[in-house]
Amino acid sequence: MAAAAPERLRIALAGAVQGVGFRPFVYRLAREMGITGFVKNDGGGVLIEAEASAPMLRIFLDRLAEHAPRNAKVTARQVAAIAPRGDAGFAVVASAVEAAGTATIMADLAPCADCLREINDPADRRHRYPFISCVACGPRYSVIEALTYDRARTSLRHFPLCPACAAEYADPAARRFHAESMCCGACGPQLAL
Ligand SMILES: [Zn+2]
Ligand SMILES: [Zn+2]
Repeated sequence: MAAAAPERLRIALAGAVQGVGFRPFVYRLAREMGITGFVKNDGGGVLIEAEASAPMLRIFLDRLAEHAPRNAKVTARQVAAIAPRGDAGFAVVASAVEAAGTATIMADLAPCADCLREINDPADRRHRYPFISCVACGPRYSVIEALTYDRARTSLRHFPLCPACAAEYADPAARRFHAESMCCGACGPQLAL
């Protein structure tokens, strides 16, 4: 029997799905499952195109629902079959600039356990840095100037990432992969005392 032909789904998720680590979550899940395509924020929430065999895509949809990040809340999901494109891999792509926002703006999120551990660790480069954050926590409502939720549309756009932060932002294995609000004492805002 020949291998099943790939199918491609366009999956639009609405709700509180920006600023909660949703794109890194989708990226890791897709890579783990050998699914190709992309994920991006758009004006309505998160848009995914996923290509794989039909059974694999069914599992992917189940896992998207079951393992979503803790602070995410999907209020609507639209799935449509579209023509396969044969991408080489799976990517997080930049948001469409024209996207008008109906996505839910998140409230600021209290520091997560991982960030609290870092802020209290004298060996960590964010030791006692008050503006610590990651994909799971940190400022959201306070810094968002417009949707979609991307650093370029937050007040943190005035604070370009230092090389160490830029490396974390670009590393799919890092906790701050595409963490739009992240920074550190070297590149982020300072507390004037
Ligand atoms: Zn955190
Ligand atoms: Zn930095």
